[in-house]
Amino acid sequence: MLQKTSHFMKQANLINGEWVQADSGQTIDVINPATGLKIGTVPKAGRNETRRAIEAAEEAFKSWKKTSALERSKLLRKLHDAILDNQDALAELLTIEQGKSLTESRGEIASSAAYVLWFAEEARRTYGDVVPSPWADRRIIVNREPVGVIAAITPWNFPSSMLSRKIGPALAAGCTAVVKPASQTPYSGLAWGALCEEVGIPKGVVNIVTGSAGEIGDELCTNPLVKKITFTGSTEVGKILIEKSASTVKKVSMELGGNAPFLVFDDADLDRAVQGAITAKYRNSGQTCVCTNRFFVQAGIYEEFVQKLAEASKQLKVGSGLEDGVQQGPLIDEKAVEKVEEFIADAISNGGRVVAGGKRHELGGSFFQPTVIADATTGMKFMKEEIFGPVAPVFKFETEEEAIKLANDTEFGLAAYFYTGDLGRAFRVMEGLKYGMVGVNEGLITTPEAPFGGVKESGLGREGGHQGIDDYLDTKYVCIGGLGL
Ligand code: NAP
Repeated sequence: MLQKTSHFMKQANLINGEWVQADSGQTIDVINPATGLKIGTVPKAGRNETRRAIEAAEEAFKSWKKTSALERSKLLRKLHDAILDNQDALAELLTIEQGKSLTESRGEIASSAAYVLWFAEEARRTYGDVVPSPWADRRIIVNREPVGVIAAITPWNFPSSMLSRKIGPALAAGCTAVVKPASQTPYSGLAWGALCEEVGIPKGVVNIVTGSAGEIGDELCTNPLVKKITFTGSTEVGKILIEKSASTVKKVSMELGGNAPFLVFDDADLDRAVQGAITAKYRNSGQTCVCTNRFFVQAGIYEEFVQKLAEASKQLKVGSGLEDGVQQGPLIDEKAVEKVEEFIADAISNGGRVVAGGKRHELGGSFFQPTVIADATTGMKFMKEEIFGPVAPVFKFETEEEAIKLANDTEFGLAAYFYTGDLGRAFRVMEGLKYGMVGVNEGLITTPEAPFGGVKESGLGREGGHQGIDDYLDTKYVCIGGLGL
């Protein structure tokens, strides 16, 4: 099974162009969530290895920042091609360590390639300004320069594409990087090292360490050579990283948790809404930051929507991601299953009605049935906390104002979705939602061309769009005087 993937399955860290083990020789086991079996190990690195990786990145920065934008763009294009040339092998590796279906893994790898291509193009457009001067004999120029060494920490739910949004803009801007992938899915992160080597990105430009999150994170946040931290993960950890980075006043980009609402109005195209709901809820077994956490459905169509969603969710094929036709893989681990069970028990004890699923799947392990819960109320855990599993709680509302208020009643503000056939309502609701991203009659909206990111406690900064490279650049104002003009 690992034949296709073996070339990319690096069981070592990449520091200054060398594949190395942890100083202590300690390792972490990596488990396939579909089988519960060990796939391999990765080094359990800590502070010292991280420091060496940072120093290597700092050394590499001296020459990398001097490469031309065109040269960097060409290398990133080669990286894009290499990712696509190896799409199947990379997708298989992703499925084996993360659990999502091969179709979704192929999609994630294609998305990684697309982000790299986007930033290959953006590399050539980091324009500055020539500003009209208030002085006759002076000129004003505004340049944009790479910030320096950046550190990237990523989660297990999109172990490849979350890195593409960080490595892509970093390298395009002329920065070098130290990367820490999630311990449960390190191989898709380490594969970036193999890919960068393959296309000739110089040693030290991308360094990858795995291991103790606390020690690695601490060094990345406090080492003065690191100029920026970019993190995707939970709001809880994001807050720790912001606090730690304050000691050296680093730039921070944070892609944190969500609590996405999905509003369906009486005037919506119901079948389209159900189709969007399935994508926005059950993708990656409900383990995405933009997955719907709360469905709010208007009273006139409530029962019909619940029934159609329940029917559609029962059709989803659950199984090992490697099997043909599987749409929902296992959850990442036992803890995730227990959390989902806790949410469902809480809902039932508060009057929730299970209309589909509700239990562990007969396949055992961390497989769970796609679940729909009707009669959800605001006192339930779903209202405030991220489920991160295949459970769709459906709340009922009467008026547009009530729906917007309910949707905004959370400290999160990442993605929101709503379905309506009324143009005026579309604008009112879109403007009323306090979210970084809104899908109108669409349940899947991520694309490299658009700025991905949240407001409130869902984060800071944007990934993708022309905005996605901004955080990797410093602005320098230059005033040239004594020109004798
Ligand atoms: P997590 O527990 O915050 O972990 C994310 C990363 O942070 C992992 O690499 C983890 O390392 C590391 N980490 C944990 N504690 C740390 C510390 N004290 N210092 C430094 N690094 C530390 O999140 P997760 O469970 O992997 O991912 C799920 C969360 O990510 C959800 O909340 C989801 O909404 C969010 N997410 C957000 C976006 C977005 O774009 N907004 C995208 C995807 C996911 P270890 O693996 O070694 O523990």
